[in-house]
Amino acid sequence: MIKQNSRGTLIVISAPSGCGKGSVINGLLKNDSKNRWLSVSTTSRPIRDNDIPGKTYNFVTKEEFEQKIEEGYFLEYTNYVGNYYGTPKEFIGEKLKAGIDVILEIEIEGANNIKKLIPEALFIFIMPPSLKVMVQRLKNRGTDSKEKILERFHTAYKEINEVTKYNYVVVNDVLEDAIDKVEAIIKSEKCRVDRIEEVFLDTKEEEIHELLIDDKDFVNEDIKI
Ligand code: 5GP
Repeated sequence: MIKQNSRGTLIVISAPSGCGKGSVINGLLKNDSKNRWLSVSTTSRPIRDNDIPGKTYNFVTKEEFEQKIEEGYFLEYTNYVGNYYGTPKEFIGEKLKAGIDVILEIEIEGANNIKKLIPEALFIFIMPPSLKVMVQRLKNRGTDSKEKILERFHTAYKEINEVTKYNYVVVNDVLEDAIDKVEAIIKSEKCRVDRIEEVFLDTKEEEIHELLIDDKDFVNEDIKI
């Protein structure tokens, strides 16, 4: 009956620091690692203890990052809390073409830039259940200095006001519930009518006629056709 666009979906996920967005994304990848791909960003921020170079980020110096900007290496990039972060262009187009969903875990300015470039992307915002929980999660990381935690909190607090620019918002209170909600959003996205490429008759007219009219059990005296 319908032929739908088989392209992958570009899924942009943003959340203020301390919202557990990393855990939500890990859950999504675990649920369907074959059809989902998380883009690895490049950053000039210092490596943290729990970082795995090449997996969490590709780490470069500020100068190397600026060189890459000149070379047009990034789909988008930003300066966040004093460090560069950018999404490399490579692989994204080919993954989407192959029907694989591409996840970008980026902050708000980057998401705004992607919206200008690719308005049909899916924009999801993850919220903390409360500011108290957000502060606690920031502190629990134990990797940032007191000043950095405060700076991240202020940035995060401002970012929450940007939620209305997104298509969907998910509160991450209970992790499994948050993952389920994002799964439901991605599923719904695949059913959007703008993904329909073609509507066609999958049954011959004579067969439909036969089904409707020539079926003696179906047509009785009371029905006039
Ligand atoms: P963190 O230093 O905690 O790993 O990341 C800080 C912020 O940078 C997070 O909000 C994260 O989503 C964002 N970020 C990570 N990679 C990119 C990127 O490639 N582009 C943009 N615009 N933001 C990014």
